Amino acid sequence: MSTTDPDCIFCKIIEGKIPSRKVYEDDEILAFHDIHPWAPVHFLMIPKQHLPSLAHVDASHAPLLGRMLALAPELARQEGCGPYPAGGHRVVINTGDEGGQEVHHLHVHVMGGPRPWSKG
Ligand code: AMP
Ligand code: ZN
Repeated sequence: MSTTDPDCIFCKIIEGKIPSRKVYEDDEILAFHDIHPWAPVHFLMIPKQHLPSLAHVDASHAPLLGRMLALAPELARQEGCGPYPAGGHRVVINTGDEGGQEVHHLHVHVMGGPRPWSKG
């Protein structure tokens, strides 16, 4: 059931055709450091199946998205974000042009660490 887009940069990262600094991997999810971090900690979580955006998600994807969201705080702590409430992290899913999405493979930004950050 897993789908891949041969022109998609994140599908190429999943396939190992483009290198990445891996944070986490299982059979459904890959997490890797953002190449242009906005914060001291900034990694992306992506589903291994090619889903272009959050706008393409339906109820069948709820377990996958739930797993990604549930994993985010654990990985954030692992990558150096401080504990809640003084620490914490920001979770962002840019969707579509007006949502600021540049790479059209669904990805969850997880950002944290001491402020100020370059964006926000
Ligand atoms: P967005 O604007 O939400 O689509 O964000 C795309 C993100 O992907 C940006 O923060 C980029 O820095 C990041 N990015 C693009 N290419 C790569 C890459 N090869 N490895 C890691 N991060 C990347
Ligand atoms: Zn893709």
